[in-house]
Formats: sequence, C-alpha cells, structure tokens
Amino acid sequence: MSNATQLIHSIPTDPLTGSVSVPIYQTSTFVQEAPGVNKGYDYARTNNPTRATLESIITQLEKGTVGIAFGSGLAAIDSVVKLLKAGDEILAVDDIYGGAFRLFTHIYEKFGIKVNYVDTTNAENVFNAITPGTKLIWLETPTNPTLKVSDIEAIAKIARAHSCWLCVDNTFASPALQQPLALGADIVVHSATKYLGGHSDLIAGLVVTKEKELGDKIKFIQNASGAILAPFDSWLVIRGIETLNLRVQQHGRNAQVIAEFLETHPSVDKVYYPGLKTHTNHEIAKKQSKGFGGIVSFTLKNDTEEAATAFVTNTRYFKLAESLGGVKSLLCHPAQMTHKSIPSEKRRAAGVADSLVRLSVGLEEVEDLVADLDQAFAKLEKKNLVTSIPA
Ligand SMILES: *Cc1c(COP(=O)(O)O)cnc(C)c1O
Repeated sequence: MSNATQLIHSIPTDPLTGSVSVPIYQTSTFVQEAPGVNKGYDYARTNNPTRATLESIITQLEKGTVGIAFGSGLAAIDSVVKLLKAGDEILAVDDIYGGAFRLFTHIYEKFGIKVNYVDTTNAENVFNAITPGTKLIWLETPTNPTLKVSDIEAIAKIARAHSCWLCVDNTFASPALQQPLALGADIVVHSATKYLGGHSDLIAGLVVTKEKELGDKIKFIQNASGAILAPFDSWLVIRGIETLNLRVQQHGRNAQVIAEFLETHPSVDKVYYPGLKTHTNHEIAKKQSKGFGGIVSFTLKNDTEEAATAFVTNTRYFKLAESLGGVKSLLCHPAQMTHKSIPSEKRRAAGVADSLVRLSVGLEEVEDLVADLDQAFAKLEKKNLVTSIPA
C-alpha cells in the first residue's frame, strides 16, 4: 500500500454510525455498568475516543506501537523528560528548539537533570560526548532555524550500544517525509501545531514510541500530569493529517525553488536548505527522508538586524509571525523573535546570524512567492541596505 493510501485509510470511519468524519466526543466522563466495568473509557483525562483515534493514526504513520496526544509540542517533550530522574543526563542537539532549551534549562536542571549540547551533524561527536549518566539522546533533524541534518540511523546505533533512549523531534520533516522509529529511534515527538495540523489553527503535541512498554510509561506520565489534547483539537489534527502528504510535497517543491532562487540572489550570503547540494548533510537528508521540507533560512550580505528588519517588514505574502508549517507562507527574524532569549554571542555561535531570516514556505503559487521576496530585496537596495557600509 502506498504512503498516501495508508495515510488516508489510517483514518477510520465510525463503526457505530458510519460517519465518514471522526466523531468528536465532547465529554468528561463515561457511564459504567458496574464499578470498573466500562466500554474502555472511564474519564476523559485518561482516554477519549476522538483523541484515541488521533493516537492510533499517528502510531500507524510513525510505525510505532503507542501514540499519545498532548496539549502542545512542549507538553509532549515534557512528558518524555519525565522518564528521567535526578542525576540522569540528556545529550541534545546544539541547534535545539528554543522552547525545549528553556524547559531543559529552567525547569529540569533544578530537578537535577543535566543537559549537554553537542553538534550532532557528525555522529562521532555524539559517541564522544556520551557519559555513564547519559539516559536520553535528543535530536531534531532538520533543526530550527539552520536546518542542520543528523544521521538518525548512525546515532540510533550509538544510543543502543550505550543503553540510552534516542528521541527524535520530527516536527520539521513530519512522518510523510521521515520515520525515525524505522531508522532505530525509540521515541518520536511532534509539535502537531506545525505540519500535522497544517493550517495554523491549533496547538498540539504527539509522542510515538517503538516499544509498548516505553509508550505505556509515557501514557502513565500523561495521565498523572494531565497535559492532554482536547477532543476538538484532536479532530482538527486528524483533519489536517488527511492532506498531510499533498501539503508536504507541495511545501517541499515550493521551498526547493525558493532556496535555489535565494542562492543566486546578490543580496543573499548563505542559504540553509537540506535540498541544496551545497548543504553539508545533503546526502544524509536524501538517504533518510523522502523530501526536504518547507523551511528555508538565509542570511544577508549585510549581516545586520536593521537589514533583516527592513526585509521582513516588506514582504506581502510572507506574513511576519512565529510558527511554521501552515498553508500560508510565514517568515520570521529569529534574532528578534524565536531566539531572542538566547544571548547574542551564544546565538551567533550556534550559527544564527543577526540577519538570518527563516521562511516557512506555504502553498501559494511559487512564482508569486519568488516575486514577493524579489521585491523585498529591491526595497533593501532602495534603502541602501544591501551592504553594511551604506553607499
Ligand atoms: C514549535 C516546536 C515545538 C514546540 O511545540 P508547541 O506546539 O509550540 O508547544 C517543538 N519542537 C519544534 C521543532 C517546534 O518547531
């Protein structure tokens, strides 16, 4: 069965009524015939049929055994970290999502969990950084916003040899492009807010595990901590997933055209996109994913916040906003937005230059998107902002 067919038929019709759309069970509790005798549901924090359907769908898409839906991507990440105890260590990708960095640093360090950051684009660095305390390896691939790619299969082997779990944040690729569990990872997390939801209209998170025992542990943590996804938002994610394959393919086609356009533009310094042959780990990206996704980042020859601000405030179709993965094109300036809380020296060292602009390429006609970027570059020229030394 092809991917698209599997995806569409992982979404069940309702066995009770025949409803083609998954019913929304807007209820907090379920009637029991006798104490403990029920139809598989007793209280909606523990389980809800609409959420359970989403969990079953994502489990199939990620080829795992247990799926769990959370109120946000960060709630999903939080529940995975709760597998650990004081004294345990996490080894994480250095270009990590800012919210995960904040959670690890400001919440979990005070509970005695140490986090070491390493450039995971070379698997050998991971091997060298493992300590006897390492319990969890945390990857994002591709990363945000510099689109670093790490070799999931190679790092999974290292994790297995050291008896630690490998968790991959698969938000940027989505299961339509990349399935980390099939490459040896133990856990996948998603911000379903992005490509899975796909329409910039909800906040949600997902976890899928390869082994049932580990999934049951996380399910226990969720029930104990309470960060569940509501029935209506579960339904919205299911609705988003119906078109995931189509959307992600078109996001990728548009992004490739835009990345190639940016590479040739005289105002642009570097372009970050795994689909470019110049990308450091282009071959690994090609090996482990079916496509390169819809996120493209670039820096300006004039590497200043001033030039970046002038650029991001002069596009028409690319709307200035945080978040990504929706139908509408968005752009953001990480130095002043998503990465503002990171000290500038540290941010620059991680490769996020002052002028770096991140594009979430949407589903508009790509010619219109290229023209939009082109006219924003022309405005930079008009304002004498193409080079850092004004003419
Ligand atoms: C957005 C995002 C998150 C956090 O997800 P929320 O749904 O905003 O809580 C985690 N990881 C990555 C890679 C993200 O882009």
